[in-house]
Amino acid sequence: MVERLRLGGCRDDGVLQALGHVARHRFVDPGLAAQAYEDTSLPIGLGQTISKPSVVARMLELLRARPGGPALGRVLEIGTGCGYQAAVLVLLARQVYSVERLRGLYDRARDNLAATRPSHLRLVYGDGRLGHPPNAPYDGIVAAAGGPELPAAWLAQLAPGGRLVAPVQDSGGVTQSLTVVDRLPDGSLQVQRHEAVRFVPLESGTSELGML
Ligand code: SAH
Repeated sequence: MVERLRLGGCRDDGVLQALGHVARHRFVDPGLAAQAYEDTSLPIGLGQTISKPSVVARMLELLRARPGGPALGRVLEIGTGCGYQAAVLVLLARQVYSVERLRGLYDRARDNLAATRPSHLRLVYGDGRLGHPPNAPYDGIVAAAGGPELPAAWLAQLAPGGRLVAPVQDSGGVTQSLTVVDRLPDGSLQVQRHEAVRFVPLESGTSELGML
């Protein structure tokens, strides 16, 4: 999988190494384990999906190319899902906070990460559109779900030198583009739109629904 990602254009050895350390098959149902190292998203329950490895690589590569440099202190992830990207992120950042709005997936991520649960990962059950104010500001914010606009809370919680990477719906609402926002050292924001992506929608509020 890692070799394919390298051939596919990922040039960040730190990201590739981190991806090589995380067993993706442990984050999907046993029945899907045979497909875990293909470059595909897979269902994880409650209508959600584990992101494609090439998309995770791209998001993390962009995050590390932030103005403040690749070494990440605090990182906030919106949309824990099954916890795969969080498991990769902890290998690249000093402290990771990951927020999930569906109780069933929050519980599943906790179980998936139980064996290796690193002390510098905090899973949070809540509405990630609000970010996670208690530990702000963040050097990096990465969202695995996209809405019509970037929530103001995310921008407010981005540290100088920090970078936000998130899908944002294009006008019309059908397509999404990968969007990068940098907070420059002088405090101003700089926005870049990249390629088209397809993430699940960023929903509001929380849901107590457990796994079926
Ligand atoms: N990071 C995951 C991707 C999970 S899919 C991975 O490693 O593959 C995106 C997740 O975002 C879903 O679990 C969905 O429930 C969650 N999500 C959507 N809106 C959210 C919100 N407002 N707050 C927190 N999580 C949200």
